[in-house]
Amino acid sequence: MEPVKIIGAGLAGCEAALQLAKNGIPVRLFEMRPETKTAAHRTGDVAELVCSNSLKSDQGENAHGLLKAELRCYGSALLGCARQARIPGGKALVVDRQRFSAEVQFTLDDAGIEVVREEIREIPDKLVIVASGPLTSPELAESLTGLLGAKRLSFYDAIAPIIAADSIDMNVVFAASRYGVGRDYLNCPLTRKQYDRLVNELLEAELHPMKDFEKSSLFEPCLPVEEMARRGRETLAFGPMKPVGLTLPETGKRPFAVVQLRRENTEGTMFNLVGFQTRLKHGEQKRVFRMIPGLEHAEFLRYGSMHRNTYLDGPELLLPTLQTKVRSDLFIAGQLAGVEGYVESIAAGLVAGINAARIAKTQKPIEFPEPTMIGGLLKYITTPNQNFQPMNANFGLLPLLNKRVRGRAKRNLMAEMALDAARKFRRNLAV
Ligand SMILES: Cc1cc2nc3c(=O)[nH]c(=O)nc-3n(C[C@H](O)[C@H](O)[C@H](O)COP(=O)(O)OP(=O)(O)OC[C@H]3O[C@@H](n4cnc5c(N)ncnc54)[C@H](O)[C@@H]3O)c2cc1C
Repeated sequence: MEPVKIIGAGLAGCEAALQLAKNGIPVRLFEMRPETKTAAHRTGDVAELVCSNSLKSDQGENAHGLLKAELRCYGSALLGCARQARIPGGKALVVDRQRFSAEVQFTLDDAGIEVVREEIREIPDKLVIVASGPLTSPELAESLTGLLGAKRLSFYDAIAPIIAADSIDMNVVFAASRYGVGRDYLNCPLTRKQYDRLVNELLEAELHPMKDFEKSSLFEPCLPVEEMARRGRETLAFGPMKPVGLTLPETGKRPFAVVQLRRENTEGTMFNLVGFQTRLKHGEQKRVFRMIPGLEHAEFLRYGSMHRNTYLDGPELLLPTLQTKVRSDLFIAGQLAGVEGYVESIAAGLVAGINAARIAKTQKPIEFPEPTMIGGLLKYITTPNQNFQPMNANFGLLPLLNKRVRGRAKRNLMAEMALDAARKFRRNLAV
């Protein structure tokens, strides 16, 4: 049998390789480091964690905890390595990063997978998984755009926060599109005084530090909200917060400013803050954006961020199996597929690995079930979306509950149902 080629021995590539090996499929795993470097990796190690050494929460009622529980259920090899390399870190799965890479290397060796130290510049023929990550080498990125289309690859993300629909105060916000053409948006109205307070806080709030290689990355049409505030006190009122075409239902008057909330999914469980892409620290986003009328109790499902990040237009290019639409033997895994985060990248590697193994065995690739965190994530990154930005695990990706529960009880119930669905799926997953 011809080996499946995998480009990138990062989190997704290593997980995919180990899933293939588990199914008896030969693999050639290519990694360009240490010879060719990226702007963030520091070593030649496989599965290097480029920044934090935390794989986030390990608690069942947390979205990342659920994602890990599903990965465990499907037999994720990298999650096993993370547990071997675990160091104390409270409720989070925190690892010794060198030990983690060493565990992954050991597991690859044990499975007979050789890491070929070579930069791949052209997408190869036949069964291949591209898992070259957010810092994909420029030549490979060019080959991808040649195959998939120039507008289909982004190099920076500009992410606005997403909040849970049921945490919005519907007594304060009003549903309306501009000029009365529909009711597609929820609008948070601000008085002059409220607007001024928000601008003051945006100017004072603490920012995530930028990496050196990201410093030139501000993209004018997509400036962070705090940068817009810095350019002039009225900039936001004439920009994303302009109230034109909107009137308050009670008075018929135009508010001084509005923050518009746009639906993020068909089910209407998630809304994003339009134009509020930001580099504020997570705690600061919570503090400052909860000053917006109607968002006092907002539950943040995804925080805003702006990064150097190579990712594909998943909704246009990918199937939920992580095959590309143009070539059924070409898979995309990891951050390049439009997921965001270490564990999400591992999950995308697992899905691509399992499905590539199925193709190698002439079986039909499978879609992971929607009522699970992995299924929800795959659905999100492959559903039509004109404003697509990468997505992390969160409870807004799961189907609505048909009973009214809130807070921790709601999350526990959703996690229980998702895990049940994952276990049933696992039983039928005869790869
Ligand atoms: C600077 C930065 C910091 C981040 N910090 C965090 C964080 O703290 N927490 C978090 O959850 N997520 C973080 N992320 C996001 C993301 O989770 C990680 O980047 C994660 O490692 C992505 O996994 P991956 O497998 O898709 O890519 P990677 O782990 O980056 O693996 C891709 C591999 O492909 C190799 N490669 C690239 N091009 C080629 C080529 N042409 N030929 C051969 N090999 C190639 C690379 O060298 C790399 O080893 C960060 C991202 C960046 C860019």
